[in-house]
Amino acid sequence: MPKIKKLLVANRGEIALRIMRSAQEMGIKTVAVYSEADRLSPHVKYADEAICLGPPPSNQSYLLGEKIIKFCKDLGVDAIHPGYGFLSENASFARKVKEAGIIFIGPSPEAIEVMGSKLAAKQAVSKYDIPMVPGMEKAITDIAFAKSKAAEIGYPILIKASAGGGGKGMRIVESEGEFEEQMQRAVSEAESAFGDGAVFIEKFITSPRHIEIQVLGDQQGNIVYLFERECSIQRRHQKVIEEAPSAVVTPELRKAMGEAAVGVAKACDYHGAGTVEFIVDEKLNFYFLEMNTRLQVEHPVTEMITGKDLVKEQIKIAEGQSLTFAQEDLRIQGHSVEVRVYAEDPKNNFLPDIGKLSTYVRPQGPGIRVDDGFEEGMDIPIYYDPMIAKLITYAETRQEAIDRTVRAIDEYQITGIQTTLGFCKFALQHEAFTSGQFDTKFVERYFEPAVLEEKLSAGEEELFAALAVEFFQKSKKEAVQNTMAQSPVKSSAWKNRLK
Ligand code: ADP
Ligand code: ADP
Ligand code: MG
Repeated sequence: MPKIKKLLVANRGEIALRIMRSAQEMGIKTVAVYSEADRLSPHVKYADEAICLGPPPSNQSYLLGEKIIKFCKDLGVDAIHPGYGFLSENASFARKVKEAGIIFIGPSPEAIEVMGSKLAAKQAVSKYDIPMVPGMEKAITDIAFAKSKAAEIGYPILIKASAGGGGKGMRIVESEGEFEEQMQRAVSEAESAFGDGAVFIEKFITSPRHIEIQVLGDQQGNIVYLFERECSIQRRHQKVIEEAPSAVVTPELRKAMGEAAVGVAKACDYHGAGTVEFIVDEKLNFYFLEMNTRLQVEHPVTEMITGKDLVKEQIKIAEGQSLTFAQEDLRIQGHSVEVRVYAEDPKNNFLPDIGKLSTYVRPQGPGIRVDDGFEEGMDIPIYYDPMIAKLITYAETRQEAIDRTVRAIDEYQITGIQTTLGFCKFALQHEAFTSGQFDTKFVERYFEPAVLEEKLSAGEEELFAALAVEFFQKSKKEAVQNTMAQSPVKSSAWKNRLK
């Protein structure tokens, strides 16, 4: 069995660092790659060796598969971990890695290929009795036929790019009148973003939750599920808060979804870590959406509740080792929440807000994990995904995990850029979230920039009031004997009110 001795991480930022940490614990040497914009990044400093790929744009650096493979040969690297994004779901890269005699930490190129196309994926799983969103299983070629299909399904419908990803390439069609226009837009978007104009129709589930299942499979054909992650708090069809377990999933539903996910994995002879995404309607019917053939951004919440290190599992599987546990050995313990800290301005439609991290102080204390890839004083480059960190918490119960996350957000100090932290605090404290009764429309339904403004000005008001009282007390200090004894109590009471 091949033992991996030197691993190249073909990625940047928090995920590169997170992967290297597991490698380090396993006694595996690490090689970082970086673009000129990331020269001073923590992932570069952390690695045993680091090599520059080129200028900042991804297509001149992190997407240069051939160059990465050449570096591997030069440096005697035996395995590549692609992380998420970039080359992680690129079947031809995975194939070239394999042909070069290097281990690709992920599934087979064939599995990546099938699951990379939403249509091919639907086709592949059709034999496995997996519930699917009503819609078309083929790309639209005939508009009249697609329209009749849409009428059959009932509006609103969703036009989706088969090659879509990252929440891009989707168009909602409310009525037949706008079908053609939306379809043309969807095709041209799909062509420019993914180089593939194939689109299809799905029923638009109006009050959906996004719940996904983590799977792990070894090369011997054993596949297990590591339960669900609730990912319904999204903006632009992209997740911002995730948790495990989900507040609405019952043991029966968990088992049914878990087994369906294993079926999806079997359909493509999957090995490695993967995620099967489902959409769940108000009646808790679940439908297969897609499979992501890589480590997921939100994988830490699963690590927290299962006690498994998913990166170590990926590495062991890639080496050809069998899983050391079976389905019945896995248990959910406690509750975990992740909030994604994006350099975005929630008050300005969540638009990227890059700049310098003038202050950057991480929260600490019990049950807190921060996965990030920046240090204070660094610039957030404009070239890549604007996620700067993931704040993950763990506690015994859901409410305790929520309270702990809010506490950690209060401790997190970031200045110089706008972030999603304030929005996340708002969401975590919202009744819809705490009660568990929410769907992917949370942002549209409950969030408006004013809720952050109001919070701020209410806070400021109290701060001014507190300062005024303090000033008043100070001026009386000489006259009042016991001020010293009273003030600590008072000031902490004010502090609590300010929160
Ligand atoms: P996850 O699916 O792991 O929950 P995201 O949807 O945020 O997380 O995607 C993970 C990363 O991959 C992000 O950096 C995102 O921009 C990128 N990504 C996902 N799909 C694609 C794609 N098809 N093309 C380019 N980037 C993608
Ligand atoms: P991507 O590859 O971009 O991640 P997905 O198919 O996973 O595409 O969908 C991304 C998000 O879009 C989902 O998490 C969900 O919020 C929304 N979505 C996708 N399909 C539907 C649908 N049929 N009805 C309602 N919302 C959907
Ligand atoms: Mg998805």
